[in-house]
Amino acid sequence: MTHHLNIAIAGAGIAGLATASFLSRIGHSVAVYDKAAEPAPVGSGLIVQPTGQAALRALGCADRLMQCGARLKRLDGRLEGGGRKVLDVRYDALGPDVFGLAVHRAALFDVLHDAAQDAGAKLFYDREVAGAEQAGEAVRLKLDGAAAAGPFDLVIDALGVRSPFIERNDVFLKYGALWANAPFPSGGGFTQDVLAQRYRGAGVSAGVMPIGTSGDGAAPLAAFFWTLQAEHYDAWHMTPLHRWKDRVLKLWPEAAPVLKHFTDHDQFVFAHYAHHTAAQPVEGRLVHIGDAWHAASPQLGQGANMALLDAWALSNALERHEDIGAALAAFLKLRVRHVKLYQAMSRLFTPAYQSDSKMLPAMRDKFAEPLSSFWFMPKLLASMVAGTLGGPLKKLTPD
Ligand SMILES: Cc1cc2nc3c(=O)[nH]c(=O)nc-3n(C[C@H](O)[C@H](O)[C@H](O)COP(=O)(O)OP(=O)(O)OC[C@H]3O[C@@H](n4cnc5c(N)ncnc54)[C@H](O)[C@@H]3O)c2cc1C
Repeated sequence: MTHHLNIAIAGAGIAGLATASFLSRIGHSVAVYDKAAEPAPVGSGLIVQPTGQAALRALGCADRLMQCGARLKRLDGRLEGGGRKVLDVRYDALGPDVFGLAVHRAALFDVLHDAAQDAGAKLFYDREVAGAEQAGEAVRLKLDGAAAAGPFDLVIDALGVRSPFIERNDVFLKYGALWANAPFPSGGGFTQDVLAQRYRGAGVSAGVMPIGTSGDGAAPLAAFFWTLQAEHYDAWHMTPLHRWKDRVLKLWPEAAPVLKHFTDHDQFVFAHYAHHTAAQPVEGRLVHIGDAWHAASPQLGQGANMALLDAWALSNALERHEDIGAALAAFLKLRVRHVKLYQAMSRLFTPAYQSDSKMLPAMRDKFAEPLSSFWFMPKLLASMVAGTLGGPLKKLTPD
């Protein structure tokens, strides 16, 4: 790379921190602005898929995360009672060494935060970004209650689903989920390499995901999640916890060793799921990445991985093209097809697992198991979840 750019990144989440590391490493000056008072991850656990793992390897920080994450071999979703399987994803259909790396969000955040700092990015907290002003080839970042920052050659919007840069309606879905972490259960038939779920229809479901440890020497943890309509959250919060636990146990008695660790509603975070795709991911010298460009329900477990791929692709494009316009066009070429494919699949499959529909889960319950026995299905399902459908890594990894 021969040119040097002055770049602002709005948002120090997964997309923002990964992009800051990539771009600082190739010699650009990077300033990151986040509204949080201090660096802190939000939420419980997530799966770093083979795509995300490849991006972290390119950043040189995969090994550290591997040490604390749980290597998932399977996603196993069954109907109430534990008999019929309606979700059966086996990573080894893609090869013996393929797995999903389930991690505590704090573990991923720490790795990315340290990588960004080590690469020389400047991180500014307690800065609420309100928008951007473009004048010719310069962009300034508007900050709430402070003077605008800049000028910059490029502003990257990594502000997540609530990005003020993008106008949108009806982004939030009816459903979300309660999430909380607990020590990994020693009973109940849970193992550290399987994400287990139970369903009743498409409106009631729970899951236990092993997430490894939050750091050196810590005990292994599990993330527990329970589907909930956003409008029912207040009622849930007012219901005594033991009554809610009785509901969960009716669906999934084996979850008792996890549930016993929950004694307070405030142990849970409610994640309200959203779906949207920004119509214009590139606007002059402003580019939207991560959830700001494409948010989806976590049913396919791709959001963090898409964010990491966006970061990698943007850095790849800026390394290959001196002209910013050409670089942003190259970035879109690397990512648009994959983003569109996964946004469409998420729209298609989410209602079978989270909606008020009676017909979709009935079809799922009837056909998912027999369909999964077709010879091509294990590989197809594994590729879908691994994030590799559409070949997103082909142009990013050297042959
Ligand atoms: C419960 C749950 C489970 C999930 N499970 C998975 C999974 O298994 N696998 C997976 O890949 N993905 C999963 N996802 C999705 C994943 O978490 C998101 O796709 C990912 O975090 C998007 O990263 P991002 O950097 O674009 O946005 P975010 O991580 O949301 O980061 C946005 C950042 O911007 C900051 N910010 C926001 N507004 C402003 C502002 N105005 N000014 C300054 N700063 C601001 C925020 O503080 C935050 O730091 C899950 C999501 C949820 C909610």
